[in-house]
Parts: sequence; structure tokens; C-alpha cells
Amino acid sequence: MTPHNLQTIVDDIAAEMAQHTLRGKVADYIPPLACVSPDHFGITIIDRKGDVFSAGDADKAFSIQSISKVFALTMALGSVGDSLWARVGREPSGSGFNSIVQLEWEKGIPRNPFINAGAIVVADVLLAGYQPKEVIGEFLRFLHMVTGDNTITIDKAVAQSEQDTGFGNFALANYMRAFKNIHNPVEKALGIYFHICALSMNCQQLAMAGRYLMCGGRRGPNTQDTIISRQRTRRILALMMMCGHYDGSGEFAYRVGLPGKSGVGGGILAIVPGIASIAVWSPGLNTTGNSKLGTIALEHLVKRTGWSVFRADK
Ligand code: GLN
Repeated sequence: MTPHNLQTIVDDIAAEMAQHTLRGKVADYIPPLACVSPDHFGITIIDRKGDVFSAGDADKAFSIQSISKVFALTMALGSVGDSLWARVGREPSGSGFNSIVQLEWEKGIPRNPFINAGAIVVADVLLAGYQPKEVIGEFLRFLHMVTGDNTITIDKAVAQSEQDTGFGNFALANYMRAFKNIHNPVEKALGIYFHICALSMNCQQLAMAGRYLMCGGRRGPNTQDTIISRQRTRRILALMMMCGHYDGSGEFAYRVGLPGKSGVGGGILAIVPGIASIAVWSPGLNTTGNSKLGTIALEHLVKRTGWSVFRADK
């Protein structure tokens, strides 16, 4: 795939997405997200050489929301290793991202780290021995390090709004605390969770952040700096494939065939192991809370590049 081809492909996809009239529904349960126009579409691909191909609104910042659960998981595995798995599972939930129903049957152990309950446990793990401010600072430093971009910030208004309206997340955290699977005060664990979700990034920054997942744990294609081990990278990608789109994960694997993680801000980070890190953004969501046009765009991209991990031509 020559750079020229990839630029043509992203330009074609952006032009095609601009024509769509059915663009999904923007998340409105977090008030600042409700103000974002569904007309946006952006895409960035970074390939294994480090070349960058962007089109549409790739430089416009959006709330990455649940995509940050991948970065929080990476940090938590780095700090407590596999002991994390005593507190959170590795199975798809088959339920919505904010569901509470399985927690009673499964004694406060969330199905996976990519649903809200699981990510709240991950936030609690990151908090062990630290103050919330320190953890949030450490999280931002991690993002600055993996992207090489110190301008990335957390949108404080979004974090505050999630704090003010996140009754469901408070219910999840309190319920898990009742099962002793939240060890710190609920407000502190949630404070971290809300700030992590409120990370503001554009497609170019997000695709940069995903490079370590493309490169087997190395920070980028042109460096030997290691963020996580090769084995852990593979495992995170497996979780993204199985759980990255909540109860739409099967459909995403069927249509796109790449490990991916979505957020209610309309972003998706998708990884082609060893080949590319891709970020797409379009704020309108489908019925499972995943970007409607983002999914269609990735489906088109994979059709044109043959990048599905399930391709049979290797
Ligand atoms: N901050 C959002 C929430 O807690 C994240 C959900 C998502 O992106 N799916 O509901």
C-alpha cells in the first residue's frame, strides 16, 4: 500500500461520509456532548513507517470518552500486572456499556475493563496509594509520552458534567463497593474515571496514541522505547476485539474485523497489528452507542485495503 493510495482512500472515504444523511444520534446524556454537530467526520491512519494520512475533521478535538479505557488498562497492567484479573473479567458482556445487571450474579466483578463498571475498577486500581490529582496527572503524562504531544488536555467541563449527571456510574461504583471490589472512596475512584473519559483529542493525536498497539508495545515504528510487552499488547488487542464495542462487538468484528475501541463521543480507535493505527470520529451513534459513520468508514477502509485480521490471503 503506497502512501499515495492511502491518502486517496481517506479522501474518498471522507467525501463519501459527507454525503450521508442518516448520521446516527449524538449522545445527549452528558450535556456538553449534546452540543456537538453530527456533521463532523474525521479520519487519520498512521502506517508502520510512521507516515500519517488524514482527511475531514481529523484535526478537530473531540471527547474520546471510553476509548481512554484502553490507555487506563495499559497503565493498570503496568502497575499491578496480572493481579488485575482477580477484580475484572475478560469476557464480552453482551450488555450495554453502562449496564448493572450482571454485577449481582457475578458478585461485583465486571465482565471486562471496557464497560463502565470495569473501567471504574481500573480507576480504583490506579488510585491505590495515590491521590486522584496524582493519578490524573500520571494519566495525562502517559498520553503525552505515547503521542509525543504535550498539548493534549482533559476537558474539565466535560469531567464536571459527568460528575453532575453520572448517577448510573455512581450506582455501579457503590454496588461494586458493596462487594468490596472498590477499595477507595467511591467519589475518588469516580473522579478519576470521569477525568479519564473527558480526555480531549483529535484523530491525529488518537492515531498517534494507538501506535504502541500497532507496534507490539513499542512506542512507535521508529523507536525501540517499550510501553508494554509484546504479549500484553496482543492481549489488549484481543480484549478490544471481543469487548471494545460493548454489545455491538460481534457486529463490529463481523463488519470490520479489527480490534477497536469506541467512545460515546463518536470516536473509534482501530488497530491493524503491525500495519496501522487508525482513528475515526463522527459524533452520531448507532443503537449500541458506537459511532455510526465511524463504523461504516472503517468497513469501507478494510474493504479497500484488505486489512481485516480475518483475511485468508496471508
Ligand atoms: N463517560 C461515559 C460514561 O461513563 C463513557 C461511556 C462511553 O464512552 N461508552 O457513560
